[in-house]
Amino acid sequence: MPIATVNPANGETLLTFDALGPEETEQRLAAAAEAFRTYRNTGFDERARLLERAADLLDEDRDVIARTMTTEMGKPLAAARAEAAKCAKAMRWYATHAEELLADELPSKADVKDSGASRAYTRYRPLGVVLAVMPWNFPLWQVVRFAAPALMAGNTGLLKHASNVPQTALYLEDLFRRAGFPEGCFQTLLVGSGAIESILRDPRVAAATLTGSEPAGRSVAAIAGDEVKKTVLELGGSDPYVVMASADVEKAAATAVTARVQNNGQSCIAAKRFIVHTEVYDAFVERFAGAMAALTVGDPMEEATDVGPLASEQGRADLEELVDDAVHRGATVLCGAERPKGLDLGWYYAPTVLAGITPQMRIHQEETFGPVATVYRVDSIDEAVELANDTPFGLSSNVWTRDEAETERFVRDLDAGGVFFNGMTASHPALPFGGTKRSGYGRELAAHGIREFCNITTIWHA
Ligand code: NDP
Repeated sequence: MPIATVNPANGETLLTFDALGPEETEQRLAAAAEAFRTYRNTGFDERARLLERAADLLDEDRDVIARTMTTEMGKPLAAARAEAAKCAKAMRWYATHAEELLADELPSKADVKDSGASRAYTRYRPLGVVLAVMPWNFPLWQVVRFAAPALMAGNTGLLKHASNVPQTALYLEDLFRRAGFPEGCFQTLLVGSGAIESILRDPRVAAATLTGSEPAGRSVAAIAGDEVKKTVLELGGSDPYVVMASADVEKAAATAVTARVQNNGQSCIAAKRFIVHTEVYDAFVERFAGAMAALTVGDPMEEATDVGPLASEQGRADLEELVDDAVHRGATVLCGAERPKGLDLGWYYAPTVLAGITPQMRIHQEETFGPVATVYRVDSIDEAVELANDTPFGLSSNVWTRDEAETERFVRDLDAGGVFFNGMTASHPALPFGGTKRSGYGRELAAHGIREFCNITTIWHA
């Protein structure tokens, strides 16, 4: 895959970059390791000062970097601005909370005594150079939610960003440098995915985090496993969105549209499978499909646009294949299932709702990374739970119900890293984020996220 900015709204190649050669990669690895030697000894106050400065700069740059993101991957401009603002907020959150999240932990006096110690505690020490392999869909946020905690913990970072967002990748390196982080603390490596293996096997790299597809995750985890290096994986999702009979159907249907088409439908935590109780099925589906069909698809730079193009031609082809397979096998098209008229230059796809899904259809098991929803009718909570879990993924889940007993049942039984009631899944710095099953392992954000790349060290005194 060439490293280039190609505008998904018209297919135009705007800027191409040469991949780093082995010598340049070596220089950056050496700089990251060198920076870690001193940066690890900085105090939380100093790290927080730098991260807050980065947040301020990002706020100042918001409009410019939002345009860059929209140009590189097609998200609506307003969403790009919101993403930049969210990143600044997460930076400030970690700047404020890292010290308390990584404070020494003391067992009870009785346990200390029982271990034979006069004093014992746990200290969270940094791990070293962490390689981040990141995707294009939230090109700032995916990186910042790794970088903010990693830098606050005293690690240094190497970013291998997706090849279609090189300008955003370079912006991030520049941002941390301008904020005053010492040389080598955070660097972007403009390399293709073929270069990852040798970087990850390098003894100076301690660990890796990857957000992206299952094949990419499997490959990075296999190499890291072979090297006995820690990994965090945040892979795909096919989140259920369950609407029970007691739900506020109007609200559920309105939120369902945003939950499905946010980021042009290219979000791992987007709701993808809509599982609706038969008592409210017709009312929900009519509203949902109607609102999906009414969305404005078009140029993501226009403020009025709800849904822009998909990020790549291949992404649209993959999505079309899933829809065509379902339709060929008998799915009912409630709206969409085609390229919108008059938008031939870009990689657009009409918001789509499909019903009558059967297990034989690929779309029943595979992730739809675009504005395509499937709806299912269920007769009971048992059926809803079973269908919600009938997926290889387990990232998050959404449930609409006003019934206490139902709520407890979903909390107990949904196989996912999150259960969001009467709303849609969204990440927040204070809440852990990650999945089960093929959605990956480990957690980002909150205390769990910052501790992933720490050496959890036992200190024991006789
Ligand atoms: P990829 O997983 O291919 O890309 C994500 C990152 O992984 C990029 O930096 C990419 O680099 C890198 N990468 C790709 N292949 C490998 C590999 N074999 N070993 C190591 N790193 C690799 O995502 P795609 O853009 O191809 O999207 C395909 C699918 O991935 C989507 O349809 C969706 O299902 C899923 N996805 C999930 C995301 C999420 O948020 N969880 C985000 C993006 C995609 P390069 O760009 O150079 O190939």
